[in-house]
Amino acid sequence: MNFDLQKCIRQSIWNLTPYSSARDEFKGEASVFIDANENPFDTDYNRYPDPYQLKVKKKISALKNIPVENIFVGGAGSDEAIDLIYRMTCDPKLHNVILTPPTYGMYKVSANVNDVEIRSALLKKIEINNTRNFALDFNAIKISCDENTRLIFICSPNNPTSGSFEPQYIRLVLEFALERNIIVVIDEAYIDFSEHHSWLNQLLNFPNLIILQTLSKAWGHAAIRLGMCFASESIIKILNKVKLPYNVSLLVQEYAVSLLDKEKTKKKHVNKILKNREKLILKLKELDMVKYIYPTDSNFLLVEFENPDGLYAYLIQNQIVVRNRSKEPLCKGCLRITVGKKSENKKLVKILKEYSVIKQD
Ligand SMILES: *Cc1c(COP(=O)(O)O)cnc(C)c1O
Repeated sequence: MNFDLQKCIRQSIWNLTPYSSARDEFKGEASVFIDANENPFDTDYNRYPDPYQLKVKKKISALKNIPVENIFVGGAGSDEAIDLIYRMTCDPKLHNVILTPPTYGMYKVSANVNDVEIRSALLKKIEINNTRNFALDFNAIKISCDENTRLIFICSPNNPTSGSFEPQYIRLVLEFALERNIIVVIDEAYIDFSEHHSWLNQLLNFPNLIILQTLSKAWGHAAIRLGMCFASESIIKILNKVKLPYNVSLLVQEYAVSLLDKEKTKKKHVNKILKNREKLILKLKELDMVKYIYPTDSNFLLVEFENPDGLYAYLIQNQIVVRNRSKEPLCKGCLRITVGKKSENKKLVKILKEYSVIKQD
């Protein structure tokens, strides 16, 4: 293996001297801080926060069994990491990224913001024992890559298709990319709901691997905007150079430290959601209007309906918001439905039944 990280990183970023905060330059004990133009009167929040969020990272480190040096934390969720990864690797108008639609929309938006060319390697529809599903098209990914390809994004479990990709195909992509100095980002936003293992234990084998996780889904804290990113120490160092100096506020750092002690609550929520998901699937399968429910490995369902647009509008009229994905490639007829609380799922099924009656009249 002769992976060369420098070949994945923009030259300007590789050579960058990052902003150096006052507290970066000072290592030792001090009691008088008159270096950062802060207000000296104690309001609990008058000092700039730790730019490297060490206390948060120590919690994450213990939880995931990953050294602190392999962790990056973003204060605008994983979306911050996605943007930083583009800015770290791709020169605008020169380098390109491989996306596998239908997938999470931010990969495309962030590429566009950074003026990075997108090459699409559409997922494949496969059918095994009457079960239709989506799979990575390794061949399409391979032929889309050229010498200017810097990134491949893989989301597993994938949004909006809801299932995971077979680890053996993800591994093929990782091995192929490693040979060509391409970074692979595996987005594991839904990993806590999944029956598959995280790729975290493969970080040492794949120096070209970046893994994204978040507190927004299973951890139940979308509002605090905390995203986690795992990679080699060298990659993390570069992300730290590119990020804004104080990207996670002290309020959020403190909150996250106490939240990360509550893994039991997270697990309890996950178990409930998975149970409710199975009940919801059974109820939906009883309805004629439901043509197909894709196999899910997450907290949402991709459901194919007869008349998705009419149904979507009817649900809105009844104060139920789902995601209309019917215009996405390969998702004709499909709505994406998050598994809610028991009462919410019941209400959804009730309104769906109502709609099928109206349609027959
Ligand atoms: C929801 C989601 C995220 C989470 O983004 P945050 O910015 O951390 O809230 C990341 N990736 C995918 C695929 C998602 O669906």
